[in-house]
Amino acid sequence: MNTTPDPTWGSDAGASLPVAVEVLRYGPLSRAEIGRRLGLSHASLSRLSAPLIERGVIIDIGEHNNGRVGRPTRLLDVDASKHHFLGMKIRETEIIAAVTNMRGDIVAHSHTPMEERTPEAVVARVRAIHAAASGERAITGLGIGIGGAVHERRTVIRAGFLDWSDVPLADLVESATGSPTLVENDVVALCEYEDWFGAAAEDDRFAVITLGIGTGFGLVLNGQPIVNDDYGIGLVGHWPMDPTGPLCEQGHRGCAAALLNSDAIARYATEALGTPVSFDETVQRAADGQPGPVRIIEDAARGLGILVAAVCNLVLPQRVIIAGEGVRLAEVGWDTLVQSIRDHRAPQSHLPPIELSSGDNLEWARGAAVLAIQAFALGRFTGP
Ligand SMILES: [Zn+2]
Repeated sequence: MNTTPDPTWGSDAGASLPVAVEVLRYGPLSRAEIGRRLGLSHASLSRLSAPLIERGVIIDIGEHNNGRVGRPTRLLDVDASKHHFLGMKIRETEIIAAVTNMRGDIVAHSHTPMEERTPEAVVARVRAIHAAASGERAITGLGIGIGGAVHERRTVIRAGFLDWSDVPLADLVESATGSPTLVENDVVALCEYEDWFGAAAEDDRFAVITLGIGTGFGLVLNGQPIVNDDYGIGLVGHWPMDPTGPLCEQGHRGCAAALLNSDAIARYATEALGTPVSFDETVQRAADGQPGPVRIIEDAARGLGILVAAVCNLVLPQRVIIAGEGVRLAEVGWDTLVQSIRDHRAPQSHLPPIELSSGDNLEWARGAAVLAIQAFALGRFTGP
């Protein structure tokens, strides 16, 4: 296998770039498959792939028969271990970090507690995490996900949980680390992972709903997450679900925050059982069949079904992915969730695939790393 270093990867690829990106996202692929996917003739593909192979951006990994009957075909692939990326998710009390290869596979990770939330203190933590990761392997680029509104992948317009507004985080981190850096809303970053390497990599239109301390929603159309500067201020976090449900702290009856937020669920279980119970314990007790927690999780699953049904009715997604550290509520309440989706859609409608992610909070950091992978692969990194 040719693993000659290639620091610029696709940045000088010109017209060949779509071939490189296709092999990165979907490889290994045969030449016939790449041609079919990109609508290229055999001659065009040969012309476009030759310089990439010469520069080691894509590699010929020889003949494979893919387990199928028939003549083995020669496959092209990318050596994903040539470059590594650092993704971070900034939370209220910690930074979750993951180092990934060029396909978003996690090779190392860390959790760093954070006491102070000023931009200076957070950037100092980010710099320390970057320094530690760089000691292990070269970091090509850095991505940061944050639960807030972000402008053009550089400036945090607003992140209420940190008390931040208009913080030029990408500039600050680039100065501190010397690494090209992108910043984005955490749900958008998760969507980018799913779009490039995850469950929705073959879809043109899909939705992501995240569960946890809040409810997030992302929509991707033809490779583009649908965002504006209002995105990330919590537009779906108070979606109405149950007119007879409990109140959220803003006074809405039965909104998403009141039914789905992990702290609300823990509070209902604590009240019902008369003893302190966490969100995770509530879900586990529901899985074990304890009546109080079962009722709380079923109420939540029914409410989630109303949101999923609305998404299905309004945007006709090919797939809905439910993710975030609260995803287990959808797993344990699955039957109620599916019934609720059906109850809130036309009887003859088809249910798109509903995928549940692992719920591992490293998924957030991996999504952030994909921001940097994309920018690098598409030749958008500037500077040194
Ligand atoms: Zn509310």
